[in-house]
Amino acid sequence: MNFKAVLVWLLFAAASKAVCALEHVTFEQDGKPVRLSGKILAEAQDGGLLVQDREGVLSAVQPAQLVSRTQDDTPFRFLSAEELQARLLEQLPAGFRVHATVHYLIFYNTSPVYAKWCGALYERLLQAFYNYWERRGLELQEPELPLVALIFADSASYEGYARTELGDAAASVVGFYSLRTNRVTMYDLTGTKGLQGTARRFTSTAQINGLLMQPGAERLVATIIHEATHQIAYNCALHTRYADIPLWVSEGLAVFFETPDLRSSQGWRNIGGVSASRLAQFRRYLLARPSDSVLSLVQDDTRFRQAGTALDAYAEAWALQHFLITTRLPDYVRYLQKLKEKPLLIYDTPAQRLADFRWAFGDDLAALDADFLRYVGSLR
Ligand SMILES: [Zn+2]
Repeated sequence: MNFKAVLVWLLFAAASKAVCALEHVTFEQDGKPVRLSGKILAEAQDGGLLVQDREGVLSAVQPAQLVSRTQDDTPFRFLSAEELQARLLEQLPAGFRVHATVHYLIFYNTSPVYAKWCGALYERLLQAFYNYWERRGLELQEPELPLVALIFADSASYEGYARTELGDAAASVVGFYSLRTNRVTMYDLTGTKGLQGTARRFTSTAQINGLLMQPGAERLVATIIHEATHQIAYNCALHTRYADIPLWVSEGLAVFFETPDLRSSQGWRNIGGVSASRLAQFRRYLLARPSDSVLSLVQDDTRFRQAGTALDAYAEAWALQHFLITTRLPDYVRYLQKLKEKPLLIYDTPAQRLADFRWAFGDDLAALDADFLRYVGSLR
């Protein structure tokens, strides 16, 4: 081996060591010091940091909050499944137990049969998600650490916990995926008021399926699948957490996968199926849809963030995604790949969002819109 090769190798080792070293960051939050050990995913010019700890949780530290930052020689690694399990049980209220599947750690204080039902549903969804994209030429990665789901026994205890992350919005959603913690949180839907007369607990998967296949339960189940889809998309490297993924993409994609399939015990037949409720919503919106609707959907997230326009935005995002995946797949895949390589914590301007959309799907938005509406007109 010549000297130059050795030198290059040494430099490479030093660089990779620097990337993987464990960092210790102390910052102040609400007047109290918080200590983190993890890896730095991004460092802003002003000194702000994005830190990922060994549980996979992200913390954005503003320069003014930063107290100290040191590094040691320990290489960074995520917690093992066993360590993660022990760490989370310490953080959760007493009474939680764990159900482990191939990809998930499910923490629950409801019945074991419901936790198992969720675990099986999520594994089927994950498999279907991977198969779907791999068949379409998109290479996905295995999650870096087990996917964590928290299931509370009832909506009241769920809300108490969810409030710490969502504030008052906790009362209006039956489950959520947190980009910060990377976890999904929900409650046992079998206890939902209106779905059953008595408060009995279920003892078999067949009973749970029977209850949750009722028409009144479909949207509830769709919501927990929707949130689980977000989690999968951010953990299989389809999207990147804290990169600027437009909501029309992340939400449209979650809706694309959300239609429940509880009949099958292995496959998942409904991916890409037409969502009757979203299609009906979009058709109502079409009665007074502005001609620049795609533009407003794509250029920023405003329509998703306002109560009066959100449902129409979700419906249009789903329909647009359906159209692009079905009729312009190579462009759509190229576009997804561009998005996931966006820098962390940098949010694009409306002009940049539009430029990226045009880069993938062409300049003629009017022609695209005409094709889109014709396509939606043909959906049944
Ligand atoms: Zn969503």
